[in-house]
Amino acid sequence: MGGDIANHTWPDGTPRLGAGAACELCRADRITHWYGEDDYGWVADCEICDTPMVVWRQHGVTPPETVVEHLVACLSAAATQRYGIGRFSIDRHMRQIPDHFHAHARPHASIS
Ligand SMILES: [Zn+2]
Ligand SMILES: [Zn+2]
Repeated sequence: MGGDIANHTWPDGTPRLGAGAACELCRADRITHWYGEDDYGWVADCEICDTPMVVWRQHGVTPPETVVEHLVACLSAAATQRYGIGRFSIDRHMRQIPDHFHAHARPHASIS
C-alpha cells in the first residue's frame, strides 16, 4: 500500500511527530526475519531477543483490546510457525521500549 513518506500522521490523525526518528518500533526497520504485517501491526524477529515480536502500528501503549487480541493472534501464528504449537509463551512485558506496544513470543526451554 504505497506509503507517503512525507505523511507525518497516522490515518486516524495521531501525530507521528518525531516518534519515527526516536522510536525504533516506529521505524519498523526490516533488519530481521519478517513474518508479515497488516493494518494493525507487524510481526518480525526481535533484534534484541531473536524471538518473534508483534508491534502495534501506532506509537502508544494502549491499543483497543480487540486490537491487542488480533496482534497476539498474529504473533501466535508466527511463533507456531517457528517453534511449534504450544512451545512458546506470549510475553507482553515491555522492557526495552516501554512506550510503544509490542509483545514477544518466547520459546519454552528445552528446544535445542
Ligand atoms: Zn525483544
Ligand atoms: Zn514508537
